Amino acid sequence: MTQRFLLFCSSLALAGCGDSTPDVEATVASQTTVFCGALIDGISNSPTIDKTISIVGSRIVSITEGKPTSGDFLDLSEHTCLPGLIDTHTHIMDNAGDTVDLSVYYHRTPAEELEIAKENAAVTLAAGFTTIRNLGAYGGWGAREARDAVNRGDFPGPRIQTSGFYLTIAGGGGDLVIPGYPEEDIPARIRLGVASGPDEFREKAQAAVDGGADVLKVLASGAVLAFGGVPGAPEMTQEELTAVVEVGHAAGIKITAHAHGAQSIKDAIRAGVDSIEHASLADDEAIALAVEHNVAFSMDVYNGSYIATVGREEGWPEEFIRKNDETTEAQRQAFTKAHAAGVPIIFGTDAAVYPHGDNALMFPIMVERGMTPMESIQAATSVAAEFIGWADDVGALVEGRYGDLIAVKGDPLEDISILQKVDVVVKGGERYQ
Ligand SMILES: [Zn+2]
Repeated sequence: MTQRFLLFCSSLALAGCGDSTPDVEATVASQTTVFCGALIDGISNSPTIDKTISIVGSRIVSITEGKPTSGDFLDLSEHTCLPGLIDTHTHIMDNAGDTVDLSVYYHRTPAEELEIAKENAAVTLAAGFTTIRNLGAYGGWGAREARDAVNRGDFPGPRIQTSGFYLTIAGGGGDLVIPGYPEEDIPARIRLGVASGPDEFREKAQAAVDGGADVLKVLASGAVLAFGGVPGAPEMTQEELTAVVEVGHAAGIKITAHAHGAQSIKDAIRAGVDSIEHASLADDEAIALAVEHNVAFSMDVYNGSYIATVGREEGWPEEFIRKNDETTEAQRQAFTKAHAAGVPIIFGTDAAVYPHGDNALMFPIMVERGMTPMESIQAATSVAAEFIGWADDVGALVEGRYGDLIAVKGDPLEDISILQKVDVVVKGGERYQ
């Protein structure tokens, strides 16, 4: 994790905020104690009962048996506690309805974008997602501003990793060119990551790293919600992908590839990426390659249903609806196969394809398509944390990690849809809900 989170100041965990004297921090460090009737820690395969979690400052210092007999504590006797959830693929700067007319991105100001991110950050956190990865924004660096604002405590939101702009070929899945719209009228800040050839991709990837990206996002193949292109067709070459991977790994950050088609998934894995987004049309060879290289799939298996219904109702472009139909069921079948073969699956919804805050609607589809409820929870906690490089900090209720937890009424292992109604959200020891 980065220094930024060490600087995070919350109202309950405000010890030493703005004060650099270590002994003062040590003497006034805040403590939060939570008692959980049932606890799913994100790593173990079985839940435990009657546990007390002690959080000092923002980190968990102990998890002990039984209920506290004195002092203030948050009593969640009737609840199941889980680690704060992680969504590894979101677009915090975007709203679901934007897809009707993508030209809105040409006209939004950075201030308007930050306002949108602020609202989306609040609903995402309230839904129990205490960590998200923002994988690209047309508006360049808006999500970085949102990340930094949350870290400063300007407004509530999840811990955010952001990729900055999309790394994509001209006219590719991450290049917002709209048919009939004059290219010269498109603001330059919309197209910061458009490149051609390994050298140019290396340069743009370096610009993303230098600008403060926590992760790099490459558009290896065509997108569903973009004009032109075929979702399965490779766009970036393996040499271009390799150039980006080299820059990212030299900087110690992960690279994730948007790739629907089997060939582009294989190209990206061979280029050395850490994870694949969508993986809709993965074939047996791509799945075997992912297992061999320990590359995770982040498969947004719910949102196809949303696009098919709401997208049609709202009149999204026919091309998007068609490409969605071509990939939805195929992706769900690939999900079942990939999971059975042992590909690590990480929870990534691609919100705002559907509204932020509804992220947990994806859990039931993951279970329907072959995961146990516990596996689907781990995909959104410890496994996600590992693949975004934050396994020391988030994704499990264990000593040393941040005091990020949620609580639900009832047993999510009996009914995974319970995760759609999170009663309590604590981030870094501070209760948000
Ligand atoms: Zn996306």
